[in-house]
Amino acid sequence: MHPDPKTKQGKATRIIHNRRHKDSLGSPYSPVYNTTTYRFADTDSLRNVIEGHTQGNLYTRWGSNPTIRELEQGLASLEDAEDALAFASGMAAISATLFAHGRSGIVCIGDLYGGTQELLINHLQPLGIPVTFLLKNECEQLASVLNMPGMLVYCETPANPTLGILDIRKLAQRTHSRGALLAVDSTFASPVNQRPLLLGADFSIHSATKFLGGHSDLTAGAVMASADHVRPIAQWRKNLGQILAPETAALLSRSLRTLPVRVRQHNENAMAVACAMQNHPAIKRVLYPGLPDFSDHSLASQQMEGFGGVLTLELKGGREQAEKVADSLKVFLLATSLGGVESLVSQPCATSHHGISREERERRGITDGMLRLSVGLEDADDLIADLQQALNQL
Ligand SMILES: *Cc1c(COP(=O)(O)O)cnc(C)c1O
Repeated sequence: MHPDPKTKQGKATRIIHNRRHKDSLGSPYSPVYNTTTYRFADTDSLRNVIEGHTQGNLYTRWGSNPTIRELEQGLASLEDAEDALAFASGMAAISATLFAHGRSGIVCIGDLYGGTQELLINHLQPLGIPVTFLLKNECEQLASVLNMPGMLVYCETPANPTLGILDIRKLAQRTHSRGALLAVDSTFASPVNQRPLLLGADFSIHSATKFLGGHSDLTAGAVMASADHVRPIAQWRKNLGQILAPETAALLSRSLRTLPVRVRQHNENAMAVACAMQNHPAIKRVLYPGLPDFSDHSLASQQMEGFGGVLTLELKGGREQAEKVADSLKVFLLATSLGGVESLVSQPCATSHHGISREERERRGITDGMLRLSVGLEDADDLIADLQQALNQL
């Protein structure tokens, strides 16, 4: 673990011991404040909190709830951020950030999560917000499309399902030189493998439904940024009503305590599966940033501390064979989503990228023979044996 520049403690230590509230009964965990409102001693103290002169708990939808604030402190510490906000979903975190900082125009680079793409095209463009889409290899066009003050550049790295890596440091330089801000959806990496803010990005966004939650049992989102950049997002969250329930916040806080150890094992298992699949005669390509022959491997090695738990297999036999393998797997569950303890398999052309034309998919390097694997925390040997028995049925 990298040490915290302030406390010299590593992420794993901080996330376990960084308690905001010391429980009066001595419990190492804070109680869950399942409350919507808080009592004040007098009108003056109430007014002071409402007007922001003193910090205090006021109303849970505003985010002023001790359980939620404690979660946010943990989220911020994971990425050495000044502040963080928790949301009811990843899409809530993304939409609040785009509304707060993207109204002058949004430039997207590379492949986007389907929900984000829908939000941009079906909802934000019709509201009059200019949105431009650049392919991964069109980054040099940034300077010309960032033609208004106060624009937002938005990207995902690693990307779904090609695992393509974007150079966050370089993008941040190009973005800032045009007076714009950079937001990175870092869901696929998790804060253990990648810390976009330390590479120069202004916002690190997560679907906490994935690795942060880690057990496929909660839906949540997170944004990490400077306090100045967080403040306007909190206003949108408050008035769009995107706060998560305190119970979910407590569940997510519990998950964060095991995040470093879980993600290290996801990394190790995914690497083992990727290596075992590489030379299989039915497989054309294995896309995994940790493989030395992966096109973006050296960039991934520079900016990531681990290569993640997601990989994509491309079958020689195309869509039909990919479907057959998905249907023959027994340990891997056929389901969308990722980042949970159980391994999942999905076919991008039938699920996450179903809404995109085949032509457009191919322009983005997404083929019908692809299978995306979210490698869980089972024994790697069992996962490899499961894939081998499914491939042997072809
Ligand atoms: C799942 C996901 C989202 C959306 O998150 P929800 O929690 O489902 O709202 C956004 N970005 C990426 C990369 C995702 O994988």
